[in-house]
Amino acid sequence: MANQNILLVEDEKDIAEAVEYALKLEGFEVTTVYDGEKALAEIFKEKPDLVILDIILPKIDGWEVLSTIRRQPTTKSLPVVVLTAKTTEVSKLCGFDLGADDYLTKPFSVNELLARIKAVLKRSQFESRQRELARELPKIPVGKKGGEEIFVSQEDILYVKAVENYTYVYTPEDNFLTTLKMYELEEKLAP
Ligand code: CA
Repeated sequence: MANQNILLVEDEKDIAEAVEYALKLEGFEVTTVYDGEKALAEIFKEKPDLVILDIILPKIDGWEVLSTIRRQPTTKSLPVVVLTAKTTEVSKLCGFDLGADDYLTKPFSVNELLARIKAVLKRSQFESRQRELARELPKIPVGKKGGEEIFVSQEDILYVKAVENYTYVYTPEDNFLTTLKMYELEEKLAP
């Protein structure tokens, strides 16, 4: 597997250097930028595996960088670990639910940061594998709506209910009466 690529967004040179050094020792590829504008450019161009994001930054602050990341479909699941200077920033982070995967308050220990990063990356890999698996799940026809055959996968189904020889399939938005018996439905969903 290729080395994982981390984008470090930190305008305090001493912190940036120490963190970059520690990350490289751990085998990560690191790109460091010093303001929010460069951070966004880098994120959309290079697609890093994780972003370490300071909040108080020149040009565009960390809040805006984070909310831009979360608004764009291509980056909305990108893992972000936020570095905050004050506890007021922490409460804002939680209160606005901007979607940081984790955060550390300055001053922080580099070892703690490394541990958090590894945990976030592990979780994100697990989640993207789950999304892939969900896409690979077989789709089965459950009936027709407006003359069109409707297909669902196990992921789409809220619950099923057997009624005599047929089965009702409930999705969050709709329900369908299939001519499949319960066991036939189960076999098709999990072959
Ligand atoms: Ca800063």
